[in-house]
Amino acid sequence: MNTYDAIIIGGGHNGLVAACYLARAKRKVLVLERRYIVGGACVTEERTFAGFKVSTAAYVNSLFRPEIIRDLRLKDYGFELIERNPASFSPFLDGRYLMLGGSHEQNIGEISKFSKKDAQSYSKYEEMLLRVASVIEPTLVQTPPNVVKPGIPDFLQLASLGKSAHKLGAGIDEALEILTGAARPILDRWFESEELKATLATDAIIGAFAAPSMPGTAYVLFHHVMGETNGKRGVWAYVKGGMGGLTQALAKAAKDLGVEIRTDADVAKILTKNGAVTGVALTNGDEYGAKMIASNADANVTFNRLLDPADVPPAFHAAINRISYDSASAKINVALERLPSFTALPGHEAGPQHRGTVHLCPDQDFIERAYDDAKYGQPSREPVVECTMPSSVDPTVAPPGKHLMSMFVQYAPYDIKNGRWDDAAKNEFADRCFDIVERYAPGFKDSVIDRQILTPRDLEATFNLTGGNIFQGAMNLDKLFMFRPVPGYAGYKMPVKGLYLCGSAAHPGGGVMGAPGMNCAREMLKA
Ligand SMILES: Cc1cc2nc3c(=O)[nH]c(=O)nc-3n(C[C@H](O)[C@H](O)[C@H](O)COP(=O)(O)OP(=O)(O)OC[C@H]3O[C@@H](n4cnc5c(N)ncnc54)[C@H](O)[C@@H]3O)c2cc1C
Repeated sequence: MNTYDAIIIGGGHNGLVAACYLARAKRKVLVLERRYIVGGACVTEERTFAGFKVSTAAYVNSLFRPEIIRDLRLKDYGFELIERNPASFSPFLDGRYLMLGGSHEQNIGEISKFSKKDAQSYSKYEEMLLRVASVIEPTLVQTPPNVVKPGIPDFLQLASLGKSAHKLGAGIDEALEILTGAARPILDRWFESEELKATLATDAIIGAFAAPSMPGTAYVLFHHVMGETNGKRGVWAYVKGGMGGLTQALAKAAKDLGVEIRTDADVAKILTKNGAVTGVALTNGDEYGAKMIASNADANVTFNRLLDPADVPPAFHAAINRISYDSASAKINVALERLPSFTALPGHEAGPQHRGTVHLCPDQDFIERAYDDAKYGQPSREPVVECTMPSSVDPTVAPPGKHLMSMFVQYAPYDIKNGRWDDAAKNEFADRCFDIVERYAPGFKDSVIDRQILTPRDLEATFNLTGGNIFQGAMNLDKLFMFRPVPGYAGYKMPVKGLYLCGSAAHPGGGVMGAPGMNCAREMLKA
């Protein structure tokens, strides 16, 4: 049996980040990925539509930690960000549109088209988010304290968190609302224009099986405003060549550092002896040995499928089974003959209306109604659709003259009441999404060359994401920071000796961030 210092189960971006940091510290590392390609949900695939480079799941970046880009010299391995400017384009059926994310002056001008009062409030709203971010962001790269069996370092860390929260003064109240509350009352308090609120509210529901009026959505909104692109805060970007541009760069860096990467290597079991890991067994029977194993798979896969539940304490196992994997997010990738021409800002030539994320949502009630269908087990009759067209800024992802569209859609519940996600149901749902785009950009449907429809069940089958949950488990307050994945085990170290979690199932959760992988490697090296 080949043996290693550490084995990483899964070659998602976090698994690759962990592998790189371990190898930099001269550890002998093996990464085992069950798919034919590394990257997990951060991947570019060329098999989907001939000639196109499709970001199958994740489609934009801002959360990926800049220190990892520097430490691993990812730019030397071809990683390049293309700023998403403007950030968003929201066309409306009355012929108006709202375009956000250019300069500060442009934002003010755009919002003034809908409300002068909101234009004045917008900068203050952004300042408020920045104030909260100044307290939350440093925690992303920290190992959270153990709140179940705290030692002196845990108490000291909690005290230091309290001290930085103290800097917020009376703003602590706002911060608490962001961490625990619903997005809708916050947006309703700050703004009067439904057009602006609908644009902002769509960020509050990404990946969440919730409507903006439900607690927990304010944090999802906030999670999406953290991050940066090339030093510019809050700015999102496309990755050149698709999101796999990041994970391919990570894989190249890993190989240069001596990491061995095996694809088509599906781990069936984590092997243990006397309460400690000893290695892994693949579905093809191959076995590899290591005293340290980090799982990039989610907690359900790790503890219910790869380990025998009897290997962990019953209370821990019960806590793992309380994690919510509810999801109603679907992804539709579309190959296009040409860019859509929006009635609110016509033109097939690539323009600002194609470069940002296109929000097709008139108001917050539209989102609430879409959620209501899903709440009762039905795919939304009128889904909330947001589209990005990376080929409008990156010609490398489509053949000359052709284009790609990523549609992120809510709500497509994992389980359909009295039905199932067969081809007919998938196509019916995708047709409804296309009808919505057609409403804003007539002629869109005629321009479609091909489409790939991924419901939560497809995301589960493709990426081994339980329930199709895009964050490897819901991002509610009871599952953030010192409570992720479960209280007492937020320090990446699991209750089997030598076993760690290094993916988004661990703090700070989902998104292409790299922080779970980096933090986990630090803890493994300490051990
Ligand atoms: C549709 C969709 C859209 C998204 N959009 C964005 C976005 O635009 N921006 C953003 O920042 N985030 C986005 N996200 C979230 C983000 O992509 C994920 O949170 C992130 O990629 C998770 O990375 P990870 O490395 O933690 O885990 P994953 O990407 O889930 O990787 C885990 C890896 O482990 C492998 N694996 C699992 N089990 C085994 C096993 N038994 N043996 C071997 N290998 C195994 C899997 O195949 C996978 O490759 C999106 C996610 C989805 C699904």
